[in-house]
Amino acid sequence: MNPIRNNKAATGMRRDKRLQPHTDDSYRAPLRVMSGTGCRECGAVYENGRWIWSASAEVTKQLLCPACRRISEHAPAGELWLQSCDYLMPRLDQVVSLLSREAQNEEGLHALERIMDIDVQPGGVRVTTTGPHLLRRLAEAMLRAHHGKLSIEYRDGERVLHARWSHDQQV
Ligand SMILES: [Zn+2]
Repeated sequence: MNPIRNNKAATGMRRDKRLQPHTDDSYRAPLRVMSGTGCRECGAVYENGRWIWSASAEVTKQLLCPACRRISEHAPAGELWLQSCDYLMPRLDQVVSLLSREAQNEEGLHALERIMDIDVQPGGVRVTTTGPHLLRRLAEAMLRAHHGKLSIEYRDGERVLHARWSHDQQV
């Protein structure tokens, strides 16, 4: 599928039905998870219906939290594509540290929102996240700091939120 197809309609930060997943998110469903459950991988704790960072919570059971499951199963919830161009490539270090900083702040607030991978490929940079909120935050941070164009959408039948950022060649 051509990722650029719906660009015009989805450009900008509009939040409409394209930003709703088509199906329930099985990674986030709280089925059978009890308060007092901790993640054996990252230490997040499930309390009162959500996964949080807690130094004081009493952990009585252990399993993998949804974010660690996504990481181990290579199943991102969000994918940000930064289109390679003459603007982006010389600023790659700057961009990566911006994204890392944003991710750190988001992860502090929401334990399940993390960057999975920042993969520099020949045509651009693929950034994957464990949660859709972080994806939006990263994409919007790119717009704020580096301008350019942004589209965010769920593609038909997919659970992964896709964002695509590009910069005009004329800098
Ligand atoms: Zn975990």
